[in-house]
Amino acid sequence: MSSFPRPELGEPYLLTPGPLTTSYSVKQAMLCDWGSWDGDFRAMTAELRSRLLDLLGAGKEDYDCVPMQGSGTFAVEAMLNSMIPPDGKALVLANGAYGKRAAQTLAYTGRGHVVLDKGDYLPPLGAEVAQILADDPAITHVVAIHCETSSGILNPLHEISQATAAAGRKLLIDSMSAFGAIPLQPSEYSFEALVSSANKCIEGVPGFGFVLARKSALAEAKGNCPSLSLDLYAQWDAMEKTGQWRFTPPTHVVAAFLQALTEHAAEGGVAGRGARYKRNRDVMVSGRRDLGFETLLSDEWLSPIIVTFFCPADPNFDFGRFYDLMQDQGFIIYPGKLTVVESFRVGCIGRMDADVMRAVVAAAKQALVEMNVASAAPPAEAVASRMAQIA
Ligand SMILES: *Cc1c(COP(=O)(O)O)cnc(C)c1O
Repeated sequence: MSSFPRPELGEPYLLTPGPLTTSYSVKQAMLCDWGSWDGDFRAMTAELRSRLLDLLGAGKEDYDCVPMQGSGTFAVEAMLNSMIPPDGKALVLANGAYGKRAAQTLAYTGRGHVVLDKGDYLPPLGAEVAQILADDPAITHVVAIHCETSSGILNPLHEISQATAAAGRKLLIDSMSAFGAIPLQPSEYSFEALVSSANKCIEGVPGFGFVLARKSALAEAKGNCPSLSLDLYAQWDAMEKTGQWRFTPPTHVVAAFLQALTEHAAEGGVAGRGARYKRNRDVMVSGRRDLGFETLLSDEWLSPIIVTFFCPADPNFDFGRFYDLMQDQGFIIYPGKLTVVESFRVGCIGRMDADVMRAVVAAAKQALVEMNVASAAPPAEAVASRMAQIA
């Protein structure tokens, strides 16, 4: 059926924003043990850093890659608290859980910051950023979320980057769930650093994140970070001098990631991967719309990463039951994160293609039949909230 068959019988597809479904060959790459100080592993680390810079499309004289152990949040924290100095001030652009988490990270270390909070799903616009920066000369950095995974909105990074650069401030990007599938070349976007992790669009397994940054920004980060293990400058400095990670590296995860990078390149890099995810999204969204489901966002804001759907208004619909019925058919979906209306999310990323997405739609149809839900149409107030967004 699919060109991405389930590698092991009974293993479900993860329609989530990571950890996600990985290829068998990525899992297989972990069947070996490496000494962290050994030359073989140091070569793997060097290769990892170099290939990520190639993927970014950045010149190696000006940019560098610093991997950091832990989940993505550890790398975000390392970037923010290392690059924003104690006397700096950040403008955090929030429209969901990850923007809020960035602000919380700065609150923990007492870094000065203001938040432009657009609620659950409205995009922060370039003009708004320009106005706030003009009004507050103390702001040194802007923190933006590329794809806000809690709603699936693809934020307008181009205009945010232009507004930030025009005001002479520095941009830090959480591109966790977008990097590798949505282009972000430094020739098109001006930024100091971006952060992503092993288990999102590159389709590796979880265990580390990485910061891609201007070398000048890494050098300026010296002495800023109040944490030992999350000090990005210290990690960079040690890697440059010894080729090693400062503390135990996730050796198997790195091996899996190198295989995942090879598969990413074979698929046509960022363009190829992005095209498959877009097709996944289009097949899944149009199939669900045929069943009556509606998306939270209008088409122009739908990312090819994850899509939020309103729960149907039909009183027979129960999300817990729907989740179980989807799982019984081999698909793990994701609860919604909206505060106002009931919703759920379906991811488009991971080792899945359009055939899998058609099977996801068929499974949803079957689940509705079993719950005796005649139409998946959302409640009127949910649609009204979306209309308010467009207005
Ligand atoms: C996944 C993700 C993170 C990191 O989450 P972890 O659970 O720590 O891996 C950060 N930002 C965004 C936008 C994400 O999608």
